[in-house]
Amino acid sequence: MKRIKITILIFLTITLIGCGVNKDLKENKSNPINDSKIEDKKKVNIDKKEIIDKLCSNEFEGRLVGSKGNKLAEDYIAYTFKDIGVEPLIGNEYYHTYIQEITPRYSEVKPDDIVKDDKVNNIVGKINGKDNTKAIVLSAHFDHIGKQDENIIKGAVDNASGVSVLIDLADKLVKSSKENKFPYDIIICSFNGEEKGLAGSKEFIKSCKGMYKDLFNINIDSVGYKNSGSMVFLNSNDKYNNIYDKLELVLNENNIQTSRTVDNKIGFSDSNNFELEGIKNVCLIEENVKEVIHSPKDVEEVIDYNRLDCISKSVYEFITKYAFEII
Ligand SMILES: [Zn+2]
Repeated sequence: MKRIKITILIFLTITLIGCGVNKDLKENKSNPINDSKIEDKKKVNIDKKEIIDKLCSNEFEGRLVGSKGNKLAEDYIAYTFKDIGVEPLIGNEYYHTYIQEITPRYSEVKPDDIVKDDKVNNIVGKINGKDNTKAIVLSAHFDHIGKQDENIIKGAVDNASGVSVLIDLADKLVKSSKENKFPYDIIICSFNGEEKGLAGSKEFIKSCKGMYKDLFNINIDSVGYKNSGSMVFLNSNDKYNNIYDKLELVLNENNIQTSRTVDNKIGFSDSNNFELEGIKNVCLIEENVKEVIHSPKDVEEVIDYNRLDCISKSVYEFITKYAFEII
């Protein structure tokens, strides 16, 4: 009797916290063979919590561009891309190298600080489509602001959260493309240098622009915050209403409320560089992240992992159902 009660309780709990749960159950029932096939092929465990814990660990030192911890983050993400079967985009490496001004701290350079130009890397891969003339650029920056007064600023929300969703999506998209190739390429980018002038994405666009006739950037920056409010399309622009309409549809279906905003109070992200180059783009960011980002409060404990699952599921649905018609 007790066991039955517990089973019912677990079921109710899952039902209450799920994203679009009724629909999920229906999908599972109607398509059990496909689901089990995907599970069987899983080689690596892509766990969003593990990825966030790793990026926020002390050895990564807050991931300030050019720092030792930032280089460890580069290697970790490149290794993960390789492991899940994302192909390199440029040559046979996942490292897109560019030169950036490196400072020992994020804010207020002091007179004794050594400032130098150095090589740093975006981590970039792709999923080959049927037609290689157009590409969706799915992105999330991995760098952060390092230390404040010798305390590591972990950047769990900004933007270990986005990288965990990016890797999760890449894993699912690679598996799906093995069954059936997508119409166009999908480029998977984890940008460096975002916190220092959106530098990584700027350099990446320079390198990649000539390779494709059309690009469409979907950028994820600071998501899955426990006190998130709505999901915002950062610096919304009326010309992209068709993109927002579809994204709203999938996010709302997965129990994520949305809002469009034209004010810059939240700030800018890498999608802004795509906008400056006339490339279609959208950036997902949570409404209330200003409460925690760039502060010691931005730690693993403020992440809502169920929300991250719902966001990843929504973006996956957006890409597979709508994005190739938009590009
Ligand atoms: Zn950010």
